Amino acid sequence: MDFTQSIEIVLKSEKTGLKTTIIPVVQKFLEKGNYSANSLISKFNRDEFSVLHDEVQHIVIGDIKNKDENNIDFINKVKYYVYTLDTYGELEQYSDDNELLYGSQYILPSAELFDIWENLYYESNIKENLLKYAHTMMEFSDKGVNYNIVTCNRVILLHGPPGTGKTSLSKALAQKLSIIMQDRYPQGIFIEIKTDCLFSKYFSESVKLVTRMFRKIHEVIENSNMLVCVLIDEVESLVHARDLCTDSDPSDSIKVVNAVLTQIDQLKKHPNVLIFCTSNMTNTIDVAFVDRADIKQYLGLPSMNATYKIYHSCLEELIKAQVIFCDKNIEDVQNINKNECMDEVSKKLLEICKKSEGLSARCLRKIPFIAHALFVCSKFVQINDFLDAMEKAIDREH
Ligand code: ADP
Repeated sequence: MDFTQSIEIVLKSEKTGLKTTIIPVVQKFLEKGNYSANSLISKFNRDEFSVLHDEVQHIVIGDIKNKDENNIDFINKVKYYVYTLDTYGELEQYSDDNELLYGSQYILPSAELFDIWENLYYESNIKENLLKYAHTMMEFSDKGVNYNIVTCNRVILLHGPPGTGKTSLSKALAQKLSIIMQDRYPQGIFIEIKTDCLFSKYFSESVKLVTRMFRKIHEVIENSNMLVCVLIDEVESLVHARDLCTDSDPSDSIKVVNAVLTQIDQLKKHPNVLIFCTSNMTNTIDVAFVDRADIKQYLGLPSMNATYKIYHSCLEELIKAQVIFCDKNIEDVQNINKNECMDEVSKKLLEICKKSEGLSARCLRKIPFIAHALFVCSKFVQINDFLDAMEKAIDREH
């Protein structure tokens, strides 16, 4: 199934019957407006489409592949998903004695995780393939496929240098999965385990901590209508813990790691659970961990195309917010690749991308901020001056 051939309709609030009646109105709206793939629409004309104006927060058009880019068939071949976003945001979990139990959790789909997916750029189909893997895993387990015959542990390991989107992609995948599987799982939750919460300074207490934390997660999993995505961020710290422990009893830290592994095996028995692990260093992860992952996906430093897309999105945002001024549209990456006669601004941006080689995506997203904070002198900045400031910021980062 191709999940990119989709349109998401985000409702302002849940109302009986609205989920089905809204789709034909949205189709009419899209047919009229000649919208293209990969766009986000958040404004609706009150006079022409009052129901959209009153009830719809956003329409997200996916990466729809169409022969004729400007003439998408919004009625056939496209799947519609209608949902509302949870607005509580990140919730921390405390025990009765007021200690942080594990990291944090989000009710899915969450407003805080909205559009993370759309703003992550990778070469090839990394995101789409991961979503297909995750969906197949959940489908197999829901149908009771024996994982001793068809191996499927429902553990996804994302690894690569810091700042390459491992945590963000785990969150975005969980969010997308909760949207596309909403008929099967009307509720969803994303639980983030911070591995440092698992290690008490009194190592002998850590096994107790691990057990207590997972007991809490088991309570959530009992609800079989709830999709539960668990993220264990920076799993390598579990292994580091063994080294840290040389002066106390080393068997304590081994016990902790083993307790975590046993708990993960327990979680996997529940069909509604998907586990994400991230690591900045694959070669130091406990082999027992790596073996448990069905999918190991490396996320590297951004390519030239991804760099261009990241800067392009940052500049568009600053232009929209009237922080910088630009009287023309900056070419998007497809046109650059077709090598259509580029204007000066796009040429300069491309040069800046080349200069940024070796920086992580996290670093790239900070460059416009550093440029503005340190290298912009006037209140009204023109795009050309801003690009100069970005070059200086890049030199500083290097
Ligand atoms: P990691 O977990 O690998 O350290 P994060 O998920 O914390 O990385 O990402 C840090 C920041 O960098 C986020 O704001 C994210 O949006 C941005 N980012 C990372 N990778 C990408 C990417 N491929 N495309 C766009 N932005 C990215």
